[in-house]
Amino acid sequence: MPSLPQANAFSFVRCYLCDSLIYAKQSLCPVCLQAIADSEFNLNWQDILLRPDANRMLKVTELNSIYCWYEYQQPFDFLIPKMKYQANPIAKACLKHLIQFNLAELYKQVKDDYDEFVPTPLHWFKYYRRGFNQAQWLAEQLKLNMPQLTDCSRLKYTKQQAKLSGKKRLDNVKNAFSVKANLAGKRILIIDDVVTTGATLDAFAKTLKQAGAVNVSAICLCWAKLT
Ligand SMILES: [Zn+2]
Repeated sequence: MPSLPQANAFSFVRCYLCDSLIYAKQSLCPVCLQAIADSEFNLNWQDILLRPDANRMLKVTELNSIYCWYEYQQPFDFLIPKMKYQANPIAKACLKHLIQFNLAELYKQVKDDYDEFVPTPLHWFKYYRRGFNQAQWLAEQLKLNMPQLTDCSRLKYTKQQAKLSGKKRLDNVKNAFSVKANLAGKRILIIDDVVTTGATLDAFAKTLKQAGAVNVSAICLCWAKLT
């Protein structure tokens, strides 16, 4: 008679979202993974600038494309703040797990259309307080086959965009970035976690284009629709 796998107290953990038992070394159960994949909120790394509903809400003039995986809904509105503001290791493990399952579609979208990627820089004081840059962490999970542009920084300590209205968001990020590299003829991909109005990304894209970039697009994990 075939023997069952030897389970011990350390073989199972609980799915972070639904609490069902799963094998250790995983963070989400197959049911949750499938539900996330099948959800109407899965954008599958679509360029949201091609969507009329997104174009009405976004205030961008510089960005050529914004590839988004998902709408900012469950479980991302729960996992991303935990990853970003608390550096929660379980939320990080879940996001890593989810991202790994969904990279093929992203690579199809961005193909070989870009020369360098750049995580949106964090102001040094925010970096000091947070301990890491979530955009840098995301970029590492995406494993893009291109070099990283490093010669740029955030000069202004900006207020949290989520707390500001439209016009104030634009003023808040105006001249917030500095790029020292010569980007003549380059096609650049910005990496960030969430896009809402696009004001921060667009301000950064403007600075990159002033440095010579001919195409600046962005990869964002989630699109937070303004209601
Ligand atoms: Zn689950």
